[in-house]
Amino acid sequence: MAAIAIVIVSHSRQLAEGVRELATQMVRGKVKLAIAAGIDDPQNPLGTDAMQVREAIESVYSDDGVLVLMDLGSALMSAEMALEFLPDERRDKVYLCEAPLVEGAIAAAVAATTGSNIERVIAEAREALAAKAAQLGSQLSLVEDKGQKTNDRGQTKEIHLIIRNQLGLHARPAAKFVATAAHFQSQIEVRNITKGTEYVRADSINQVATLGVRQGHEIAIAARGTDADEALEALQALVEDNFGESDRVLESFPLTSSPSLSPDLQGIPASPGIAIAPAFLYCPTPVQLAERLSADPQTEWQQLQVALQIAKQEIRSLRQQTASQIGDSEAAIFDAHVLFLEDPALLDTVRQNIFERHLNAEVAWHEAVEKLTTTYRQLEDPYLRSRVADVTDVGQRVLRRLTGSNLTALELTHPVILVAPDLTPSDVTKLDPERVLGICMTHGSATSHSAIVAKTLGIPVVVGLTPEVLKLRDETCLALDGESGKVWIDPDEDTIATLQSKRDRVQAAKQKALATAQQPAITRDGKPIPILANISGIADAKVALNLGAEGVGVMRTEFLYLDRTIAPSEEEQLAVYQAIAQLMDTRPFIIRTLDVGGDKPVPYLGLSPETNPFLGWRGIRFCLDRTDIFKTQLRAILRASPGHKIKIMFPMISTVAEVRQAKAILAEVQSELRQANIPFDEAMEVGIMVEVPSAAAIADRLASEVNFFSLGTNDLSQYVMACDRTNAKVAALADALHPAVLRTIQQTVQAAREAGIWVGLCGELAADPLAVPILLGLGIDELSLNPQKIGEVKGAIAQITITEAQAIAQAALKLDSAASVRELVAASLGNNNL
Ligand code: PEP
Ligand code: MG
Repeated sequence: MAAIAIVIVSHSRQLAEGVRELATQMVRGKVKLAIAAGIDDPQNPLGTDAMQVREAIESVYSDDGVLVLMDLGSALMSAEMALEFLPDERRDKVYLCEAPLVEGAIAAAVAATTGSNIERVIAEAREALAAKAAQLGSQLSLVEDKGQKTNDRGQTKEIHLIIRNQLGLHARPAAKFVATAAHFQSQIEVRNITKGTEYVRADSINQVATLGVRQGHEIAIAARGTDADEALEALQALVEDNFGESDRVLESFPLTSSPSLSPDLQGIPASPGIAIAPAFLYCPTPVQLAERLSADPQTEWQQLQVALQIAKQEIRSLRQQTASQIGDSEAAIFDAHVLFLEDPALLDTVRQNIFERHLNAEVAWHEAVEKLTTTYRQLEDPYLRSRVADVTDVGQRVLRRLTGSNLTALELTHPVILVAPDLTPSDVTKLDPERVLGICMTHGSATSHSAIVAKTLGIPVVVGLTPEVLKLRDETCLALDGESGKVWIDPDEDTIATLQSKRDRVQAAKQKALATAQQPAITRDGKPIPILANISGIADAKVALNLGAEGVGVMRTEFLYLDRTIAPSEEEQLAVYQAIAQLMDTRPFIIRTLDVGGDKPVPYLGLSPETNPFLGWRGIRFCLDRTDIFKTQLRAILRASPGHKIKIMFPMISTVAEVRQAKAILAEVQSELRQANIPFDEAMEVGIMVEVPSAAAIADRLASEVNFFSLGTNDLSQYVMACDRTNAKVAALADALHPAVLRTIQQTVQAAREAGIWVGLCGELAADPLAVPILLGLGIDELSLNPQKIGEVKGAIAQITITEAQAIAQAALKLDSAASVRELVAASLGNNNL
């Protein structure tokens, strides 16, 4: 009797485990089934890895045959590559099968238990859709059409959307667009209506990016297939969310005056700051290629697959490194780089070059990439044009793998100004700001990712300089001003002195602001008030510490769930919480559990539009219903806690029962961890947000359930004043300084005092220096706010005594409006008594 084994290859570990669970349940574990799913990158766990696939095959290998079933796109590539790594005698016994993953795995497992041979098992897997197809009848024709490009829009659903984010569909939003489209089975296409382009494939990063979609352009998205509605809904949500970008204008350069010395060269300012140092010429030579015709296209194609796989692994580790050392948003460009490598349109061109023109892999790849860079260069839009650097970066990486040539390493023995024709984003992420004091480039633009990364690293950059600069000798003294784009060659003493004094002035102003913010906040009569930060991720946490935060008063964890298509895994969350906990060391770090709903809809969590979302399925209400999501988050928080001062906080509590239920689930998770010998902080404090009027009304009852309260005045004011916090027409009415809100705060603080627990405040009110006397006067123990306002709020605290604050607060409670409260505070602060 044959013993066939099955291997499931999927981008998602959860999906693969689910398929394994289903299949093994059907056959009661009688078939050897292994999975190779996800990748070892906590930030980005979705993906497939050829080595993992090979190990999975080896772990269940049978001479009777191994059937490999895969999910989408690169899963096939990884599986094909895994075969390359198997010994010849085993490779022939492994069969990659195009059958649908779930149905195929179950059908194959059932066939395998009956002792069928491999041919039969494959046939069963391929037939697996038949039952469903019969039941769905005519709809199947849509599925069969899928994958064939068509101009027939007959059964196609189409939506039109306006792009509102600042730079339009540039590389990072395009990457998100493509990644979202790729999650659906339907054939999805997109076109730029404003520019009158044709439809292009929504799963091709290059085709989407080269549509030239800018802010204000109208696009049409067409989807055809069984999940067309869901696909359009997800893409619409992504567009409406501005691809997760904030509305802020790209960082502009400060308008301080630059030294008006006449420079030797004038370029484009790309990253502010002044640098004076010897030049270091860096001109990496492009990989040398030799065109030859190949008689064995299959081998050329396989070599390319191996190079692509290795390049992808390099990019992923670069992404991880960039995220932890520089920041998440800078690291996101590498997601686009991975998508370039998976771009079906690009790979189609390479395939044609190899199989139809019989070119060798290097030349086939190089020609396809060159064609693409020409398309980018011809775009009208300068921002999109500057994406050439990204395409070249990725193209060269693969070529280096194919030809075995290495990048010249930058070995610097002393601080320099780097002079280069162009630097790729990956080059810049590897620079050490202690050694590279400035960068001069002949290519590039201020909005290139290289410049964005340099800015975050604090390296001044001037781009667009004349090519003459590349003829400079190493060690020539250079000076550059990244704010004005000026460069001096062998500057004289006066120029150096002027530039140095500007550099010192800027540096001193920065240091002064930082030094004040680093001081503790103490009232004039000596009461220290802890000032913590509101954050949403690792990058904010670093900024917060630099700006004087004494810990984290609320981490809005929902940001980990937004702007993606599946919930973050326990490991992924753990990595983020651990990274922040490490930064905070033993400073307090309050992690608020998921607060989705309201103005933070998350379509993939099933939060569909509601008539009154702020009064609906939100925060703890959602988590108590979706305990799977809730428990995953609690496990991650608890696992990050040893050695740190992490506290857990539940949002949107309105009843005692909710707190008890949440605590019971927490206790369940704690007991599971104990049983599994996984350590966590047993003494972790548990608190709640007081942001719903009912919670304030029963604060005395809630206080006995928890260790602390944190007042969420953003929500509290909208609920107390009955004003939707997103509705500009009623914004003035929802002022948190209204005596009605202040009385609710007072009531909450009083209940906390009586129960002996502390109470903080983390709504926007905490960042308003005018509110400081009132909040201290009402007895708030600590404030948590936007890190940028820490210096100002600490300054306001230092001006007042607690007795004065109490007098102002008592008077404010008796006033009739928020406006009169503001007048009272302003007058009191102006009064000499204060
Ligand atoms: C609040 O409601 O004041 C608060 C801090 O929470 P969020 O703004 O995230 O709702
Ligand atoms: Mg809130």
